[in-house]
Amino acid sequence: MTALDLIVSDEISVPRPEHATAPDIQHHWCERPGCGKDAGWGFAKPKQAPHWFCFEHRGDGETYL
Ligand SMILES: [Zn+2]
Repeated sequence: MTALDLIVSDEISVPRPEHATAPDIQHHWCERPGCGKDAGWGFAKPKQAPHWFCFEHRGDGETYL
């Protein structure tokens, strides 16, 4: 194994800080204050925690992209 191989394996094995749960087994609620509806739209940049919004407020999520 070369030194480069070791570096790559290290990066892959780094655990995610949180929100590591798969999206399909976690229920999300709209983040718009006072809404609380089912959030079917998730917005997230790579390596960042996602933000969730319902159909009506999904436009809010685009500000996180
Ligand atoms: Zn909403």
